[in-house]
Amino acid sequence: MITVLAGGVGAARYLAGLLQVVPPADVTAVVNTGDDTTMHGLRICPDLDTVTYTLAGAVNGETGWGLTGETWQAMESLRAYDAGRAGFNLGDRELGTPLFRTGRLAEGASLAEVTEQIAARWGLGLRLLPMTEAEVATRVTVADDGEIGFQDYFVGRHHSVAVSAVRFAGIEAATPSAGVLDAIASAAKVVIAPSNPIVSIGPVLAVPGLRAAIAARRDDVVAISPIIAGAALKGPADRLLTELGHESSVVGVARIYAEVAGTLVIDTADADLAGAVEAAGMRCVVAPTIMSGPAEAAALAKVTLS
Ligand code: GDP
Ligand code: CA
Repeated sequence: MITVLAGGVGAARYLAGLLQVVPPADVTAVVNTGDDTTMHGLRICPDLDTVTYTLAGAVNGETGWGLTGETWQAMESLRAYDAGRAGFNLGDRELGTPLFRTGRLAEGASLAEVTEQIAARWGLGLRLLPMTEAEVATRVTVADDGEIGFQDYFVGRHHSVAVSAVRFAGIEAATPSAGVLDAIASAAKVVIAPSNPIVSIGPVLAVPGLRAAIAARRDDVVAISPIIAGAALKGPADRLLTELGHESSVVGVARIYAEVAGTLVIDTADADLAGAVEAAGMRCVVAPTIMSGPAEAAALAKVTLS
């Protein structure tokens, strides 16, 4: 069994590669739920959905999230009532997912059960686990407005405002969801996907008990740097690192993960920093890490398993 700690887009790409090189039934992904939110009364789980749609081959290739072939009639209908309500867009096709999830949760199903049903509907062979059943909400403090919700920062403000603090509201009361601790303890390898270290992997490691469980497997934990040549391929990981006092480089990533992971895979573009990564306390593997297509993603997956 290979257990992968996952955010959204970066993790989904890695998992797509991994599923080409190991039997899907041997893969468990523990997915960040800190981005989750309730919108229009519906429970939205952005990272779980991004992983699901990507692995189903149904993701919108331009954005990296949402479904292909969307239409927007429901949102137009909503906007006719109140233009301000449609800030977080849900396409007509995608809408079925949060409708199903919210309905099942209201009937008393656990998020893990609903996630399993959604994964089955999309024909996914791996096991997808939410990091916790508890409602955890990533909140960020921005210059002019104080603390705001993650989607307000990420979607509403296009993550273009400076962040001075990040907090995972509700994390103290959270526990790992069923199967998570066992998936970490029994895995041949634990992989930290190339996801945002602060707001994607950060919440997973902050679930009480998880950091210690992963650190206990440190020799078998491999992380992939989402930072290449000092920059994120997409999204705010580089700026968040800098704004929160870390270095936006593979060395900064190594300092964040050194306690829980024994090995860091860095891109060939950063080969000259391998020594500095080792000095930060991690074994360093240099390999191509840009997953521009299925072949590159599969090759990266092989590197993490070797
Ligand atoms: P989000 O939750 O959808 O924002 O996605 P993640 O947190 O999973 O992933 C965002 C991170 O993935 C960014 O920091 C990107 O730099 C990184 N990323 C995306 N694609 C790749 C890739 O092909 N290779 C590597 N190394 N990192 C990637
Ligand atoms: Ca996310």
